[in-house]
Amino acid sequence: MSRRGWFAPAREGRRQRVRSGLALASLVLALSASACFLLRRELPSRSFRSMGTLATVTLGAGYADRIEPVSAQVRRLFDRLEQEMSTYRPDSAISLLAEKAGVAPVPVSEDTYRVLSLGQHFGEVSEGGFDITIAPLVRLWDFGRSPVPADLPSEESIRKQQQLVDYRRLLLKDGTAFLPTKGMAVDLGGIAKGYAVDRAYDYCRNAGIADFLIDLSGNLRAGGRPQWGEDWQIGVRDPFDRARILGKVTLASGKALATSGSYERFVDIEGRRYSHIIDLRTGYPVTGTAGVTILCGDATTADSLSTSFFVVGLKGAGKLLQKTPGVDVLIVPDKYPIEIWLTPGFAKAFVPIPELVDSLKTLMPASP
Ligand code: ADP
Ligand code: MG
Repeated sequence: MSRRGWFAPAREGRRQRVRSGLALASLVLALSASACFLLRRELPSRSFRSMGTLATVTLGAGYADRIEPVSAQVRRLFDRLEQEMSTYRPDSAISLLAEKAGVAPVPVSEDTYRVLSLGQHFGEVSEGGFDITIAPLVRLWDFGRSPVPADLPSEESIRKQQQLVDYRRLLLKDGTAFLPTKGMAVDLGGIAKGYAVDRAYDYCRNAGIADFLIDLSGNLRAGGRPQWGEDWQIGVRDPFDRARILGKVTLASGKALATSGSYERFVDIEGRRYSHIIDLRTGYPVTGTAGVTILCGDATTADSLSTSFFVVGLKGAGKLLQKTPGVDVLIVPDKYPIEIWLTPGFAKAFVPIPELVDSLKTLMPASP
């Protein structure tokens, strides 16, 4: 599972298994594979595969009779967004956009248009650390498509693909999108899941559900509370040891949480581990960061900023924090012994496991 790219077609097989009812064991495994996850399991909840990964809808204790229709509706919503935004479906709007690069603009749905323009927005905010036109480099590094990549891509091929990456060159106008150069392509793997969670959040609210938690592969957003007197408690997995958590986060109503971790998906080449997040300035997968968790007001921001902070790392985090008011961050650099850097706002919502109390460090915005 860890080697597959976003929306990878190879996951179809897994989806079949889940449907076939043999599924329980693999479902539980998949559930616990996510980088952040709900600690309580006995509430009304449904899991299903969509957007190439596992989604879970959990409702507050008072809504047991609504779980079937609500989760079915969220599933339809996710499936529709997948159909539009997957890079793996040849008929998606995003695939068509790449196909027509350098040729003609393509009409896109309102959702896709919004995700593309939000993607550009986070490109600005992160000064290009996050770039939705990263696809040519993602393809070059071939995350997930072949089981074991043989070699590193050549310097020359990296430089060539790098020139095709620049979110500012994506033109959005009157419901259409256009990539001006052949070979350019968009990859929404770092933002579309968060956007989907926000749409599901809106749906639940509009359907009169006050208490719910949406989880799409570790992109979470909460409404209300699990039951009277309790809060949504989310475990954040240790990026070095999947068997334990770093601690738990209290997710207040309306808030979102997302994690990017290098152990989530990676390739091992010549004994070195490369993450699935690429620093377009070097053309190489990011090293130096093990995990990033974002706590903020919406899941689209949490998703794209978890990827952005992963790219800039602890070194660039202070500067990026300055430009992202209202966003709280937890960063685990890729070093030993473990250090957990977190903003004061994150610290307020976070309880570390006892062994890690001494590993906490304060992360602050850089002074202007
Ligand atoms: P995951 O999807 O595994 O939860 P992320 O949310 O961090 O992890 O998104 C990683 C995905 O974002 C990659 O699989 C790829 O599709 C895409 N991506 C990789 N590098 C970048 C980048 N520099 N900017 C934007 N998107 C990226
Ligand atoms: Mg993300």
